[in-house]
Amino acid sequence: MQYVSTRGDAAPRDFAGVLLSGLAEDGGLFVPEAWPTFTAAEWRSFRGLSYPDLAARLIAPFAAGSIAPDVIRRLCAEAYAGFGHPATVPLVQLEGGLWVQELFHGPTLAFKDLAMQLLGRLFDHVLRDQDRRITIVGATSGDTGSAAIEACRDRERIRAVILHPRGRTSEVQRRQMTTVLSPNIANLAVEGTFDDCQDLVKAMFADAPFREELSLSAVNSINWARVAAQIPYYAAAAIALGAPDREVSFAVPTGNFGNVLAAWAARQMGLPVARLMVGSNRNDILTRFLRGNDMSVRPVEPSLSPSMDIGVSSNFERLLFELLGRDAGACAQVMRNFRDTGRMDVPDAAWREAASLFEGFRLDDPGTEAEIRRVHAATGYLADPHTAIGIAAGRAGALPGVPTVAMATAHPAKFPDAIEAATGLRPPLPPRLDDLYEREERFRTVANRLSEVQGAVRNAVFSNAA
Ligand SMILES: *Cc1c(COP(=O)(O)O)cnc(C)c1O
Repeated sequence: MQYVSTRGDAAPRDFAGVLLSGLAEDGGLFVPEAWPTFTAAEWRSFRGLSYPDLAARLIAPFAAGSIAPDVIRRLCAEAYAGFGHPATVPLVQLEGGLWVQELFHGPTLAFKDLAMQLLGRLFDHVLRDQDRRITIVGATSGDTGSAAIEACRDRERIRAVILHPRGRTSEVQRRQMTTVLSPNIANLAVEGTFDDCQDLVKAMFADAPFREELSLSAVNSINWARVAAQIPYYAAAAIALGAPDREVSFAVPTGNFGNVLAAWAARQMGLPVARLMVGSNRNDILTRFLRGNDMSVRPVEPSLSPSMDIGVSSNFERLLFELLGRDAGACAQVMRNFRDTGRMDVPDAAWREAASLFEGFRLDDPGTEAEIRRVHAATGYLADPHTAIGIAAGRAGALPGVPTVAMATAHPAKFPDAIEAATGLRPPLPPRLDDLYEREERFRTVANRLSEVQGAVRNAVFSNAA
């Protein structure tokens, strides 16, 4: 399997190549040269597979020619072994025709673990193959940092240094990062804001000698392998509800468009997906696009669902490329224009095609709180703010006779204040995390100064270069 850039100006490469490079050098995103597909008989034959085995069957074609199927199978088994539920991604029925799929049983209690746990192992495998080592450097306001740390801990070929703004993350978020005591993980608490952390990371990547010296790399949400690793749970839900002999719809709380893009990819592979509901909070660029072809950038505002607080959904470019008939020149033109004007000029026919499958849905904070309360009163289920938006989107967009699955992207205990405000209940952390407050923390506080941060990164990397 080869991958091409959505902007057409990067040499095609294989799965290992796109894994390590992330973004294409022309600024585009890598997509498969052609979509692997499965026949109805093949989808039927997947019934009864364990989640790791199903994941391996669906991911292997994307790695063909680069990583052998039995290696993918072993890495999937290892990646999901530590999940806190025997079904890995269990379905819970809320009412007739409406289910949630819980994607939060991984180590950091959010859906990103499903991709990141595999990604860390894929990186390690490819780096060993090529006898290389890398240093992952990232900035976090709280959530993505812990998923990256859990993905990199104990990986032989990866060192990870994560910057967070000192005193500005929640205590749970900080502890999820700083209590990972693996020698290849370092946490830097920067005397500054999240934006300062991001600027420091950008500056480190822009410093070419430093970047080379430490083989800096990132694990960002546009990495194709992350999208690929999110396809299997859509298949697991659909198969459990009768696919390929029955259509299924999905409702996805959406930020960067990575999760819902994976649902669309499953459909490209032959899974019968009827409709995709895209849930947004007040940062509703996708809803405005899907309802009225208005993809225009507005300032990001904080909400109860912080992982969906985005101004631009970077993974949308992959869908755009397909909507434009895989015309990379046209895609590059639209993206250039979008960057210059802040408004994406999507041709009417392409927009209509998107709007015929995807349905945009927006819920503001009072609506989100009301939905958490309503779901709890009606069913006893505690939905975190992101999940509540997914459930509301699923109810709004359900088609008669078609089962709808809303993606539960975070454990309610990650957002206890919002849950308590809505229901009066404070959800406890799951048992395997209930000693989080007693665990030893390790981090180093650094000034908001590039030279000091670079020194700390070097120190973290070379003090454990074993
Ligand atoms: C990252 C995240 C999202 C958004 O997912 P995208 O792939 O960026 O659309 C939704 N909910 C939670 C809890 C997340 O962590």
